[in-house]
Amino acid sequence: MATIEQAQVIKKQHLIDPEICIRCNTCEETCPIDAITHDGTNYVVKPDVCNHCMACVAPCPTGAIDNWQPVHAEKMYSIDEQYTWDELPAPLALDVPDIPAVADAGTTDVNTEADAEVTIQGSNYVAGSQIPPWSASHSYTNLYGTRNVVTATVSGNYRLTDDASDSDIRHVVLDFGDAPFPVLEGQSIGIIPPGTDAGERLHHARQYSLASPRDGERPRYNNVSITVKRVVQDYDGNAVKGVCSNYVCDLQKGDKVQVIGPFGHTFLMPNHPGANIIMICTGTGSAPMRAMTERRRRKHLEGQGDARGKLMLFFGARCKEELPYFGPLNKLPKDFIDINFAFSRTPGQPKKYVQDVMRERLPDLLALLKDEDTYIYVCGVKGMESGVLEVLQEAATAGGMVWPELHATLRQKGRLHLETY
Ligand SMILES: Cc1cc2nc3c(=O)[nH]c(=O)nc-3n(C[C@H](O)[C@H](O)[C@H](O)COP(=O)(O)OP(=O)(O)OC[C@H]3O[C@@H](n4cnc5c(N)ncnc54)[C@H](O)[C@@H]3O)c2cc1C
Ligand code: SF4
Ligand code: SF4
Repeated sequence: MATIEQAQVIKKQHLIDPEICIRCNTCEETCPIDAITHDGTNYVVKPDVCNHCMACVAPCPTGAIDNWQPVHAEKMYSIDEQYTWDELPAPLALDVPDIPAVADAGTTDVNTEADAEVTIQGSNYVAGSQIPPWSASHSYTNLYGTRNVVTATVSGNYRLTDDASDSDIRHVVLDFGDAPFPVLEGQSIGIIPPGTDAGERLHHARQYSLASPRDGERPRYNNVSITVKRVVQDYDGNAVKGVCSNYVCDLQKGDKVQVIGPFGHTFLMPNHPGANIIMICTGTGSAPMRAMTERRRRKHLEGQGDARGKLMLFFGARCKEELPYFGPLNKLPKDFIDINFAFSRTPGQPKKYVQDVMRERLPDLLALLKDEDTYIYVCGVKGMESGVLEVLQEAATAGGMVWPELHATLRQKGRLHLETY
């Protein structure tokens, strides 16, 4: 039992475990009051800002965010101290209030702390759903972490982009042998590149979406595929050699790779074969769309399809030579999937982005938006979300629907999923 004196001076401090965190930025994007920040090494929580609202806990793919340690109020760990950590400090033996539980997605008052003052307004500030579709399968997450990595063997590494293109995107197949690695379409894995960073710390894992369906890249094999772009320029266009993407793109058949995960429990496809799926992506954001499309294709081949369940794809790239899976996509029957490409740099052609092509299909988008069995997935470059949401709003408004209401319904019913990086 805490004494009155202890209760006044002991607090729970919200911390991020640097050993598990894969630096995906999800928590920083989610926190409604900017309590999370990062440097080149660690993601950290500002002790003087965090109000323990829990909004960041459910979206974190690894669980690294869910750490609450008892500390003396006057000796909370500063962000500068947290930046130096390779692992969390051992918890102090102090008597504290209950550790907060993970909040339910969509809950209005998600604050379980008796002493915190601020409450957030549900999950309104997150544009996408924080729950999966009702008919999604149950996903397994975090089966492997940095303390129990699983080793996969490379069984293939193929270039997807045209040899003449300077964009090197690869399809890499990883085999888990007899190690259990159950996955679903829309989930991702973490890859730990070998070696250490400039501070001589082990490299942290990078996240890659699965491009293969749940029953394996090769049906009934314990293998997965990923779609990886070799990073040779940073976001400002400066030359850089991305640590993990270059490592993965250079892997040879037979090489061993350290993997953690799987991650993700919301960006999952509906199992219901009559559900419509609208997929909107750019570049390597096509990985989860390939996984979902392939799942549907295999179900159709097994005679378990449903003609009511439409697939509509909007896929943007600079030109067709840089579009992963261009050839195989073009071979899919038109009555199986409605494909719409948008190329922004085809010589002699006007620039087209995914939003432009979506606008050309407004009546068809509207018809799907009106159907309660429609699920929307957006994946690709950061910054595409707002343009896509704008077009969805235009389609809804054109059809006499009230966008804020429709948007809230899509989000609350697990029907709008956004993943950009
Ligand atoms: C949920 C999620 C899913 C992802 N799925 C995929 C996927 O399916 N395929 C894939 O290729 N990547 C994916 N990524 C991105 C991937 O995790 C890495 O961030 C990416 O491969 C770069 O890692 P790196 O180690 O090569 O670069 P780093 O060494 O970490 O970074 C080098 C420099 O490049 C910049 N940089 C990092 N990424 C990019 C980029 N994409 N474009 C331009 N500059 C960049 C960094 O800011 C840094 O300055 C995903 C990320 C997230 C969060
Ligand atoms: S793994 Fe979790 S704690 Fe780390 S950056 Fe991503 S969301 Fe934040
Ligand atoms: S608990 Fe709330 S305030 Fe604290 S870091 Fe997470 S989202 Fe931000």
